[in-house]
Amino acid sequence: MNKKELYKIKQKALDEHIPIIMDDTLKVIQDLLINIKPNSILEIGTAVGYSAICFSEYLKEGGIIDTIEKDQKRVSEAKINIIKTEVVNKINILNGDAVEILPTIEKKYDVIFIDASKGKYPFFLNQALRLIHKGGYIIADNILYKGYVMSDYNKHKQRTAVRNLREYIKEITENKLLETNILEVGDGLAISKKI
Ligand code: SAH
Ligand code: MG
Repeated sequence: MNKKELYKIKQKALDEHIPIIMDDTLKVIQDLLINIKPNSILEIGTAVGYSAICFSEYLKEGGIIDTIEKDQKRVSEAKINIIKTEVVNKINILNGDAVEILPTIEKKYDVIFIDASKGKYPFFLNQALRLIHKGGYIIADNILYKGYVMSDYNKHKQRTAVRNLREYIKEITENKLLETNILEVGDGLAISKKI
Protein backbone atom coordinates (compact mmCIF):
# COMPACT_ATOMS: atom_id res chain seq x y z
CA MET A 1 0.00 0.00 0.00
CA ASN A 2 1.26 3.44 -0.93
CA LYS A 3 0.76 5.54 2.23
CA LYS A 4 1.92 8.78 0.63
CA GLU A 5 -0.81 8.52 -2.01
CA LEU A 6 -3.35 7.59 0.66
CA TYR A 7 -2.50 10.77 2.57
CA LYS A 8 -3.00 12.88 -0.57
CA ILE A 9 -6.36 11.20 -1.25
CA LYS A 10 -7.47 11.98 2.29
CA GLN A 11 -6.45 15.64 2.09
CA LYS A 12 -8.17 16.12 -1.29
CA ALA A 13 -11.37 14.51 0.00
CA LEU A 14 -11.35 16.75 3.09
CA ASP A 15 -10.73 19.85 0.94
CA GLU A 16 -13.72 18.89 -1.22
CA HIS A 17 -15.94 18.20 1.81
CA ILE A 18 -16.45 14.55 0.90
CA PRO A 19 -17.64 12.88 4.13
CA ILE A 20 -14.83 10.33 4.51
CA ILE A 21 -14.48 8.30 7.68
CA MET A 22 -13.19 10.26 10.69
CA ASP A 23 -9.82 9.38 12.21
CA ASP A 24 -11.12 8.16 15.58
CA THR A 25 -13.83 6.05 13.90
CA LEU A 26 -11.24 4.54 11.56
CA LYS A 27 -9.04 3.66 14.52
CA VAL A 28 -11.86 1.70 16.21
CA ILE A 29 -12.61 -0.24 13.02
CA GLN A 30 -8.93 -0.92 12.35
CA ASP A 31 -8.52 -2.40 15.84
CA LEU A 32 -11.49 -4.67 15.18
CA LEU A 33 -10.24 -5.70 11.72
CA ILE A 34 -6.81 -6.58 13.11
CA ASN A 35 -8.54 -9.12 15.34
CA ILE A 36 -10.96 -10.51 12.75
CA LYS A 37 -8.59 -10.65 9.73
CA PRO A 38 -11.58 -10.70 7.38
CA ASN A 39 -11.57 -12.55 4.13
CA SER A 40 -14.43 -10.50 2.72
CA ILE A 41 -15.80 -7.03 3.40
CA LEU A 42 -18.84 -5.35 1.87
CA GLU A 43 -18.97 -1.56 1.98
CA ILE A 44 -22.06 0.48 1.17
CA GLY A 45 -20.88 3.99 0.17
CA THR A 46 -17.42 4.07 -1.45
CA ALA A 47 -17.15 7.81 -2.11
CA VAL A 48 -13.57 8.12 -3.45
CA GLY A 49 -12.40 4.86 -1.89
CA TYR A 50 -10.65 6.25 1.17
CA SER A 51 -12.17 3.94 3.82
CA ALA A 52 -12.01 0.87 1.56
CA ILE A 53 -8.32 1.52 0.87
CA CYS A 54 -7.69 1.87 4.62
CA PHE A 55 -9.57 -1.38 5.39
CA SER A 56 -7.79 -3.31 2.62
CA GLU A 57 -4.61 -3.42 4.72
CA TYR A 58 -6.31 -5.73 7.22
CA LEU A 59 -7.68 -8.32 4.81
CA LYS A 60 -6.52 -11.87 5.01
CA GLU A 61 -4.18 -12.85 2.14
CA GLY A 62 -6.33 -13.13 -0.99
CA GLY A 63 -9.26 -11.34 0.67
CA ILE A 64 -11.53 -8.89 -1.14
CA ILE A 65 -13.62 -5.77 -0.47
CA ASP A 66 -16.76 -5.22 -2.55
CA THR A 67 -17.82 -1.59 -2.30
CA ILE A 68 -20.92 0.08 -3.74
CA GLU A 69 -21.19 3.68 -4.97
CA LYS A 70 -23.99 5.29 -6.97
CA ASP A 71 -22.18 8.48 -8.01
CA GLN A 72 -20.39 7.76 -11.31
CA LYS A 73 -17.84 10.56 -10.85
CA ARG A 74 -16.85 9.26 -7.43
CA VAL A 75 -16.57 5.73 -8.80
CA SER A 76 -14.15 6.98 -11.47
CA GLU A 77 -12.06 8.77 -8.85
CA ALA A 78 -12.13 5.76 -6.53
CA LYS A 79 -10.85 3.57 -9.38
CA ILE A 80 -7.92 5.92 -9.92
CA ASN A 81 -7.26 6.01 -6.17
CA ILE A 82 -7.05 2.23 -5.79
CA ILE A 83 -4.52 2.18 -8.64
CA LYS A 84 -2.46 4.96 -7.05
CA THR A 85 -2.39 3.22 -3.66
CA GLU A 86 -1.62 -0.15 -5.29
CA VAL A 87 -4.59 -2.06 -3.89
CA VAL A 88 -6.48 -2.74 -7.14
CA ASN A 89 -6.52 -6.49 -6.60
CA LYS A 90 -8.12 -6.10 -3.15
CA ILE A 91 -11.02 -3.76 -3.97
CA ASN A 92 -13.93 -4.36 -6.31
CA ILE A 93 -16.05 -1.26 -6.95
CA LEU A 94 -19.69 -1.76 -7.88
CA ASN A 95 -21.27 1.25 -9.60
CA GLY A 96 -24.95 1.65 -8.86
CA ASP A 97 -27.59 2.23 -6.21
CA ALA A 98 -27.08 -0.12 -3.27
CA VAL A 99 -30.86 -0.41 -2.98
CA GLU A 100 -30.82 -2.18 -6.34
CA ILE A 101 -27.45 -3.96 -6.10
CA LEU A 102 -27.72 -5.48 -2.60
CA PRO A 103 -30.70 -7.77 -3.35
CA THR A 104 -28.72 -9.27 -6.27
CA ILE A 105 -25.72 -10.29 -4.14
CA GLU A 106 -25.51 -13.98 -3.28
CA LYS A 107 -22.19 -14.35 -1.42
CA LYS A 108 -21.67 -13.76 2.32
CA TYR A 109 -19.25 -11.43 4.09
CA ASP A 110 -17.22 -11.32 7.32
CA VAL A 111 -17.72 -7.58 7.73
CA ILE A 112 -20.33 -5.21 6.30
CA PHE A 113 -19.75 -1.44 6.59
CA ILE A 114 -22.81 0.76 6.10
CA ASP A 115 -21.86 4.34 5.22
CA ALA A 116 -24.38 5.71 2.68
CA SER A 117 -27.77 7.48 2.71
CA LYS A 118 -29.07 7.55 6.28
CA GLY A 119 -32.68 7.27 5.18
CA LYS A 120 -31.92 3.78 3.83
CA TYR A 121 -30.23 2.34 6.93
CA PRO A 122 -33.13 0.02 7.90
CA PHE A 123 -33.16 -1.38 4.35
CA PHE A 124 -29.36 -1.78 4.38
CA LEU A 125 -29.62 -3.58 7.73
CA ASN A 126 -32.14 -6.07 6.37
CA GLN A 127 -29.85 -6.85 3.46
CA ALA A 128 -26.79 -6.97 5.72
CA LEU A 129 -28.50 -9.53 7.96
CA ARG A 130 -29.00 -11.72 4.90
CA LEU A 131 -25.42 -11.21 3.67
CA ILE A 132 -23.40 -11.51 6.89
CA HIS A 133 -21.63 -14.68 7.98
CA LYS A 134 -22.37 -16.07 11.42
CA GLY A 135 -19.83 -14.43 13.74
CA GLY A 136 -19.45 -11.51 11.32
CA TYR A 137 -19.81 -7.80 12.06
CA ILE A 138 -22.27 -5.25 10.71
CA ILE A 139 -20.84 -1.77 11.27
CA ALA A 140 -22.78 1.45 10.66
CA ASP A 141 -21.23 4.92 10.55
CA ASN A 142 -22.91 8.27 11.34
CA ILE A 143 -25.46 6.51 13.51
CA LEU A 144 -25.84 9.46 15.92
CA TYR A 145 -25.87 12.06 13.11
CA LYS A 146 -24.33 15.09 14.85
CA GLY A 147 -26.39 14.43 17.95
CA TYR A 148 -29.76 14.79 16.15
CA VAL A 149 -30.66 11.15 16.78
CA MET A 150 -30.52 11.59 20.55
CA SER A 151 -32.16 15.03 20.71
CA ASP A 152 -35.86 15.73 20.33
CA TYR A 153 -35.45 18.83 18.20
CA ASN A 154 -34.90 18.11 14.51
CA LYS A 155 -35.21 20.34 11.49
CA HIS A 156 -37.50 19.16 8.73
CA LYS A 157 -34.50 18.48 6.49
CA GLN A 158 -33.10 15.87 8.88
CA ARG A 159 -36.37 14.32 9.97
CA THR A 160 -36.44 11.31 7.63
CA ALA A 161 -32.78 10.50 8.25
CA VAL A 162 -33.24 10.76 12.02
CA ARG A 163 -36.36 8.56 12.00
CA ASN A 164 -34.56 5.90 9.99
CA LEU A 165 -31.41 6.01 12.12
CA ARG A 166 -33.57 5.57 15.24
CA GLU A 167 -35.29 2.62 13.58
CA TYR A 168 -31.87 1.13 12.78
CA ILE A 169 -30.75 1.50 16.42
CA LYS A 170 -34.01 -0.01 17.66
CA GLU A 171 -33.62 -3.05 15.38
CA ILE A 172 -29.98 -3.74 16.23
CA THR A 173 -30.61 -3.47 19.95
CA GLU A 174 -33.76 -5.62 19.90
CA ASN A 175 -32.55 -8.31 17.45
CA LYS A 176 -31.60 -11.35 19.52
CA LEU A 177 -29.18 -12.58 16.83
CA LEU A 178 -27.03 -9.47 17.25
CA GLU A 179 -24.69 -8.28 19.97
CA THR A 180 -24.52 -4.54 19.59
CA ASN A 181 -22.30 -1.73 20.83
CA ILE A 182 -23.04 1.88 20.01
CA LEU A 183 -19.96 4.08 20.33
CA GLU A 184 -19.85 7.87 20.50
CA VAL A 185 -16.71 8.08 18.37
CA GLY A 186 -16.83 10.38 15.36
CA ASP A 187 -20.42 10.81 14.21
CA GLY A 188 -21.52 7.69 16.11
CA LEU A 189 -20.61 4.10 15.25
CA ALA A 190 -22.76 1.00 15.71
CA ILE A 191 -20.99 -2.36 15.80
CA SER A 192 -23.23 -5.43 15.73
CA LYS A 193 -21.91 -8.97 15.86
CA LYS A 194 -24.09 -11.66 14.29
CA ILE A 195 -24.11 -14.54 16.77
N1 SAH B 1 -17.05 5.26 3.06
C1 SAH B 1 -16.49 6.49 2.50
C2 SAH B 1 -17.45 7.66 2.62
C3 SAH B 1 -18.79 7.41 2.00
S1 SAH B 1 -19.75 8.91 1.89
C4 SAH B 1 -15.21 6.81 3.25
O1 SAH B 1 -15.25 6.80 4.50
O2 SAH B 1 -14.19 7.08 2.62
C5 SAH B 1 -21.26 8.23 1.38
C6 SAH B 1 -21.30 7.82 -0.10
O3 SAH B 1 -22.43 6.99 -0.27
C7 SAH B 1 -21.45 8.97 -1.07
O4 SAH B 1 -20.40 8.99 -2.00
C8 SAH B 1 -22.80 8.70 -1.77
O5 SAH B 1 -22.80 9.02 -3.16
C9 SAH B 1 -22.96 7.21 -1.55
N2 SAH B 1 -24.35 6.72 -1.52
C10 SAH B 1 -25.40 7.27 -0.85
N3 SAH B 1 -26.50 6.53 -1.02
C11 SAH B 1 -26.15 5.47 -1.80
C12 SAH B 1 -26.85 4.36 -2.32
N4 SAH B 1 -28.17 4.20 -2.09
N5 SAH B 1 -26.18 3.49 -3.11
C13 SAH B 1 -24.86 3.66 -3.36
N6 SAH B 1 -24.14 4.69 -2.88
C14 SAH B 1 -24.76 5.59 -2.12
MG1 MG C 1 -19.52 8.13 7.30
